[in-house]
Amino acid sequence: MPGGVVAEGSPTTRLRHVGPYPYHAHVDLHLTEPQRRTLDELIGTGPRPEFPLDLSRRLRGRIEDAVRELDLRDQLWLGKEKLNDHARCEGKFLSQVLGESPPFEHSPRSAAGILLHKAIEVEVGSREPLDPHAIAARAAERLTEREERFSEYWRDLDRAQQDEHLMEVVRGVTLFQATFPPLREMRHELAPVCELGVKAELLEGALVLSGRIDLVLGAPDRLEPGRATRLAIDLKTGGAYPEYPEDMRFYALLLTLRFGVPPYRAASLFLDSGEWQAEDVVEDTLQHAADRVIDAARAAASLTGGRDPSLRPGPYCAWCPRAERCPAFAAAAGVTG
Ligand code: SF4
Repeated sequence: MPGGVVAEGSPTTRLRHVGPYPYHAHVDLHLTEPQRRTLDELIGTGPRPEFPLDLSRRLRGRIEDAVRELDLRDQLWLGKEKLNDHARCEGKFLSQVLGESPPFEHSPRSAAGILLHKAIEVEVGSREPLDPHAIAARAAERLTEREERFSEYWRDLDRAQQDEHLMEVVRGVTLFQATFPPLREMRHELAPVCELGVKAELLEGALVLSGRIDLVLGAPDRLEPGRATRLAIDLKTGGAYPEYPEDMRFYALLLTLRFGVPPYRAASLFLDSGEWQAEDVVEDTLQHAADRVIDAARAAASLTGGRDPSLRPGPYCAWCPRAERCPAFAAAAGVTG
């Protein structure tokens, strides 16, 4: 995969780009081995695949044709969480479609997550280089200014608890910097975008697909619009879950519908290890993701129309708003406890 890049020297590797694609400018960087590996093997420096220009229209048509006849009572929003809920248990899926969850409040875990993602945005987007402590502090400042729920959570912490959160962010940013080539310096070549919110409205808004992708790399190819130049990455601080590949396939579909061309690859990257699970996007990937959307939309229509949900208890019952009154959960708890 490292076509077009010449590596010289170790452990600080000097990279020199010698091919015309995908980089427009001469890149002359000092990279560590893990950073070089991410550049060569995850981002990749070889030619990007090309897709038919009508692919996005065909995918949209396939979903709309299947969903058009459904009796969707309200506008249906589907994202990766609801699609996963549908695969787990229809009871939980229905509870999310009907908005039964209590209003969101930050937990230490969710606050740490949003803070780290904002910090990575600061790391990639700031004009001047900042050390991880300054990045963490700036991220907390921006979130308290702009995110009401985070601001409320943050205000209730004492200084020691805030410092603990900031140190967690410092750890995450340090691991991010150790994994990726310097994205701030490679903005021209890699066009990084953090926290990219993407929405696709189908059937005039009756069905909305949405998601927020942690990191998207790659600028569009203006001369060859069917060329897939983007890489979609979800950054993970914990271990791998079986749902992650499906999440990334959904993001690939979302990017295709929104930009008209798929990403060439979609990956979950684990910051602790610097390892990733990546999948090259092909047309079958997108058709599969479209089928999951269609299945979930069909289930939403029939369940909101009165069909009884098929209940499948599992570890996710712990986060289900129906758990207290769910017979399947009670039966499963009785069996195990
Ligand atoms: S408690 Fe468990 S089995 Fe019951 S609806 Fe929720 S997820 Fe499904």
